[in-house]
Amino acid sequence: TYVIAQPCIDVMDRACVEECPVDCIYEGARSLYIHPDECVDCGACEPVCPVEAIYYEDDLPEQFGPYLRDNEEFFTQV
Ligand code: SF4
Repeated sequence: TYVIAQPCIDVMDRACVEECPVDCIYEGARSLYIHPDECVDCGACEPVCPVEAIYYEDDLPEQFGPYLRDNEEFFTQV
């Protein structure tokens, strides 16, 4: 799955939402989140993000590691 990390917080540009072919990017209070089970790993969202917040989970920079869990938590609480 692809993951949206810290640069999205309070930015929420939403360009990725337009690009996603399966509409799996959801809106939280301060960030957007990619549903890990719905994402088809197409990569379309990554280059359109103006703040480079989107990473493939294996390419997530170390400092953004917690965002993978953060993302999962967002979808388990709803
Ligand atoms: Fe949507 Fe593709 Fe991005 Fe996954 S990688 S969130 S399917 S645009």
